[in-house]
Amino acid sequence: MTKKRKKSFYQITQERYAMAAEIMDLREEVREILSEPKNVIQVHFPVRRDNGKLELFRGYRVQHNNILGPYKGGIRYHPQISMDEVAALAAMMTFKCGLVALPLGGAKGGVQVNPHDLSPTEHMRLTRRFTHALATNIGATYDIPAPDLGTNAQTMNWIMDTYSNTVGFSGRDLHYGVVTGKSISCGGSLGREKATGQGLVYLVEEWARLEKFDLSHATYILQGFGNVGSNAARLLNQFGAQCIAVMDHRGAIANPKGIPIHDLIRFTTEKGTVVGFENTEKISTEDFWSMKADIAIPAAIENQIDEKVASTMNVRLVAEGANGPVTIEGNQILVDKGVDILPDLLANAGGVIVSYFEWTQNKTNDRWDLEEVDAKLKKRILRSYQAARAAQARHKTSIRIACYIVACERLQAAYDDRGIFP
Ligand code: NAD
Repeated sequence: MTKKRKKSFYQITQERYAMAAEIMDLREEVREILSEPKNVIQVHFPVRRDNGKLELFRGYRVQHNNILGPYKGGIRYHPQISMDEVAALAAMMTFKCGLVALPLGGAKGGVQVNPHDLSPTEHMRLTRRFTHALATNIGATYDIPAPDLGTNAQTMNWIMDTYSNTVGFSGRDLHYGVVTGKSISCGGSLGREKATGQGLVYLVEEWARLEKFDLSHATYILQGFGNVGSNAARLLNQFGAQCIAVMDHRGAIANPKGIPIHDLIRFTTEKGTVVGFENTEKISTEDFWSMKADIAIPAAIENQIDEKVASTMNVRLVAEGANGPVTIEGNQILVDKGVDILPDLLANAGGVIVSYFEWTQNKTNDRWDLEEVDAKLKKRILRSYQAARAAQARHKTSIRIACYIVACERLQAAYDDRGIFP
């Protein structure tokens, strides 16, 4: 018997888009345009390691679509990154921005490197050379990167600084708007660092309200304790919810009585992993996913919940902090089991929403206070949840496909009104 080959993340994203296009009857021309990225950029650039040796790195930027506005999407540093993965993530950004009604398009980029192998100075040199290699392929009104897996505010500060001192230098303009997710001192926005986790928690809160579910007694398991995971945990705990297991790239830990999140944040900042945290037991990946809890938050990488993992899961809700954490087959099993899903396009859109607020503040040379940022984020993400639920009811489909449908409706409207050049 031949073994079924696993679908790639790109194939999964394409399949979901095709499903939505079919259900909503997306016009053929628009369907075709959105099925391929507009620009695919691959660069190679040398970086001197701390030991004096030169190493050649490969970087990508895929610009999927800009009918709604400038290309927008994160930069990922990961050893297994591929053009396929970046293309899938770039397409997801187009649909995400469409879903949450931002005047932005979709892109994604990255470098094939293990960020844990880089010293801070190597991280800086690599980032500066990658920015130099991308040159005019990015820009404040053209393509605006942001942090993602393996990158952070410091990475964005270096991109902004390098761009300002090279490409943007001749114009002498301020180039804060070339990236978002910067630190506050470099033109960042209050609330951006926690934005993805915050958006996810606003949605979980709304889901709980709609389901009449009491979050104050809720338990949850969390995969990924980086920007998205740790902020989501910190904010969810404010409702009284308890995190009972956490998994990162080094392994999983559990304590059924609850894990103190602030102490775990301090521990991981120092040790670089959750493994070894006091009063927790190290558990296997299988034991992590099969733990009985109310909520599971995958906030690490794609394709984590496949049919095998999904069939062992014992939760009421999966809230997707990561992009593409659930496979097509895994999704079907969760749906069959009656597990609710807050899908990635919606659940992690808080990051790009507050990135848009940062970009707007940079353009207008303004500073908003945290209350204003949070209130605007909450309003926009809950309105998008409502739009997705309405499309779900209208088309009798899943909330995940409904998110793609809302996005495609907006993209189609832009193509219809604008026409296709020439
Ligand atoms: P991060 O680098 O800050 O943290 C990633 C976490 O995932 C770390 O704890 C790491 O140990 C863990 N991890 C990595 N590989 C793993 C593996 N194989 N198994 C288990 N754990 C693993 O990254 P982040 O910014 O928090 O991004 C996490 C996810 O959220 C990604 O899918 C990213 O695309 C998505 N996302 C991030 C943002 C953002 O604003 N940062 C916005 C939208 C979506």
